[in-house]
Amino acid sequence: MKRQPNSSEETANKLREHMVRTQIAERDVGSPAVLKAMRQVPRHRFLPNDSLENAYGDHARPIGNGQTCSQPYIVAHMSDWADIGANDRVLEIGTGSGYQAAIAAEIAREVYTIELNEDLARSAQTRLKELGYSNIRFFTGDGYQGIARFAPYDIVLITAGAPELPEPLLEQLADNGRLVGPIGHDAQQLVRVQRKGGRFETEHGIYVRFVPFVSNGFESE
Ligand code: SAH
Repeated sequence: MKRQPNSSEETANKLREHMVRTQIAERDVGSPAVLKAMRQVPRHRFLPNDSLENAYGDHARPIGNGQTCSQPYIVAHMSDWADIGANDRVLEIGTGSGYQAAIAAEIAREVYTIELNEDLARSAQTRLKELGYSNIRFFTGDGYQGIARFAPYDIVLITAGAPELPEPLLEQLADNGRLVGPIGHDAQQLVRVQRKGGRFETEHGIYVRFVPFVSNGFESE
């Protein structure tokens, strides 16, 4: 017998398609790989306490422990601006719900993600395993130092608002690699840093609001 699709999954699929069209494609994200990933990843599974309407709404959502899962557009825009390629190895700082990690894992070869909060790290890992992602590796702790053991990375995504860019994350970028993240205190601005040999080229983008990047590393600077 053919399995009947469960109707709440059908609703989720419709809402997700609407989200991709109205919040992402009709704005300015044109990358086929990013659009495909946004269509693929079941965002509502990362927001189990939300209604489907809230999970697919045009906003960041709370994920517990005072943290948030970013607005869908911001996840898509950061992935697009970083220009994540199919062969890339990605380092993400701030696993949170695991949603951005899943989007990156749909596009790239491998994702390394690190989360400071142990509860969030544990539940994101369980969720991403259940969803079948086998190209994500999980780390718990302060992401300020990156993960030197697996460096260099083609892409570094920072998903918490940092007062300035952590030096180790720049050092762990591969040549021609790109780092994208929010920098600033209250209002933050997305920056993109590209490594060109020994030089780093920085561009400034849109203003955003992320939860803080919490690290002792900033105090010593
Ligand atoms: N990428 C996440 C967004 C999470 S919000 C998602 O898609 O859901 C930012 C996350 O960064 C929070 O979970 C917070 O606990 C974490 N964080 C803050 N400072 C950190 C640090 N120094 N190292 C690693 N994670 C950190």
